[in-house]
Parts: sequence; structure tokens; C-alpha cells
Amino acid sequence: AKTDGVGLWREFDATMQARQALLFEREQDLRNALGKKQFTLAYQPILDTGTRQSVGCEALLRWTHPTHGSVPPSEFVGLMEKLGLIVPIGRWVLETACLEAVHWPADTHVAVNLSPIQMNDEGLVDEVKAILIRSGLPAHRLTLEVTETSLLEDNPIVRNTMDALRAIGIRFSLDDFGTGHSGLGYLRRFPFDGIKIDKLFIQDMVEQPDAAAIVNALLAVSAELNLDVVAEGVETEAQYEALRQRHCQYVQGHYFAKPLADTEARRFILTHRTA
Ligand code: C2E
Ligand code: CA
Ligand code: CA
Ligand code: CA
Repeated sequence: AKTDGVGLWREFDATMQARQALLFEREQDLRNALGKKQFTLAYQPILDTGTRQSVGCEALLRWTHPTHGSVPPSEFVGLMEKLGLIVPIGRWVLETACLEAVHWPADTHVAVNLSPIQMNDEGLVDEVKAILIRSGLPAHRLTLEVTETSLLEDNPIVRNTMDALRAIGIRFSLDDFGTGHSGLGYLRRFPFDGIKIDKLFIQDMVEQPDAAAIVNALLAVSAELNLDVVAEGVETEAQYEALRQRHCQYVQGHYFAKPLADTEARRFILTHRTA
């Protein structure tokens, strides 16, 4: 076929239009997903490193699209934020996690991820309090995971939200720790109860001395500051062993369990506990 510049441009333009159409379709589907009950939560167990007993789970959002099947959060969480859907969907996540976790053993917790937009939303405190009342979940069984991005603007709302929710017993964990730029400074300025070491470091720590050095440093700082530490993305026996030797208190990853449906998560917890 003969292609001149104009023909190529038309082809390119058509591809762009097709991509635009696809994105637009995905946006529409996402707007309808909550009403159509296409979201579920998967729960990934968090274990005590020493005993390998389950202390709780992290709730992870799952979207089952009617034709595209399971869409990973990396493909829609950013879009939810852009479309202003993160607050209503985030509220659904919090409520569902609390309603389901209330049926787990009383000494376990559920960790819920909060977007920076939720953390900068003045309505969050009242919303969380109302959800705890409706679900019956005691506040100390809820952990909120936030990333550095939530703290970047140094918005007083974020600090006030953390203070108000910590005052009733909710715990805060700094997620993806080590991946940003000034994570250590945030630990001084915001009242965190724990950190999660990003899986990037955990997955390289056995083979790469620089990753192991960073894990060592993060564990040392956390011990000094009295913070709980969860290592995420543990996939191998060697990684688990390396973390155990370093006295990292909690672990989470495919080596122990993948994210599980509510009933399987509950069963996992019941079969992985001391009592
Ligand atoms: P995250 O908070 O860092 O969550 C941990 C991610 O690591 C999850 O990916 C989990 O499935 C994955 N993971 C756990 N163990 C392993 C492992 O051993 N190896 C590997 N390679 N991966 C492991 P997922 O479920 O795809 O979620 C991705 C991200 O989407 C989350 O990262 C979080 O930032 C966001 N996200 C998920 N659910 C929610 C939600 O309800 N609200 C908000 N705002 N964000 C969410
Ligand atoms: Ca998380
Ligand atoms: Ca993380
Ligand atoms: Ca992450």
C-alpha cells in the first residue's frame, strides 16, 4: 500500500480516536461500577514474623468488569481520583472492610488504603466515625494506610484528621516507605504508628546489598521511633528468613498468602493464630 504523510497522519489520528473512545468507555464503566456492585475487597494477611500467626489483613480493592474481567487497581485508582470517584468509592471500601472485619477474631485488624484526596477531605473524620458505629468495629481494629503524597502539601486538614482519628484509637501507617524523597522527615511531622517497607526493597534485599542496607536503615529508624514495621511483597523463604534475622516484626506477601476473598481470609486467620 502507498502511504504518504497525510495517510500516515490519518492512521495515527484514527488510533488516537480509538484510544480516546476506549478511555471514555472505561470512564463511563467506572462511573457505573459502584452502582452495579462490580467492586469487591480482597484481603491479604499480615503475619507476625516470629510466630507466623496472622495479626490482620490489608483490604485491596478489586474491580470485576463485565467484559474485561478483573481490572488491576493500577489501571483504575488514578482514574477514580481524576473523575472525583475516589471519595464515594473510598467510603464504600472503608465501610465494607469494617463490616467484614468485624467478623474476624477480636485481636485482628484491617488495614485500609486511603488516597491523598481522601486524606485532604474535611469530611473524612465524621465519615470514619459513622462507619465504625454502623459496622460495630472497634476503632483500634482499623489501620489507615497513607502514602507520602498525602503529606506533601502539608495541609493542616491532614494533620487534624490524623490527630482526631488517632484520638479515638485508629492507627496510621506510612505506606510504600522508602520510595519517596523525604519520608524520614514525615515521620517527625506526622503522628504515625507504623510504616510499610515497600516491596521494591524487600524483593531485592537478598541479592542486592544496597537494598539490604536500606532495609536495615529503615528497621533501625523504626525501632528508635517505636514504630511498627510491616515488610510488604515477601515472596520467598530467603526474604522471610532475612527479615526474621533482622527482627522485622510483621510480614505480608505471596510467600504467605495472596489477597483472598473475605471468607477465605477469615479462614486463613482462624487457621493461623495462637489461641
Ligand atoms: P499497596 O497499598 O502498596 O498494596 C500492596 C500491593 O502489593 C497490592 O497490589 C498487593 O496485591 C501486592 N502484593 C502483595 N504481596 C505481593 C507479593 O508478594 N509480590 C508482589 N509482586 N505483589 C504483592 P494491588 O492489589 O494490585 O494494589 C496496588 C495498589 O493499588 C496498592 O498498593 C494501593 O496503592 C492501591 N489500592 C488498592 N486498593 C485500594 C483502595 O481501596 N484504595 C486506594 N486508594 N488505593 C488502593
Ligand atoms: Ca497499602
Ligand atoms: Ca505498599
Ligand atoms: Ca504501592
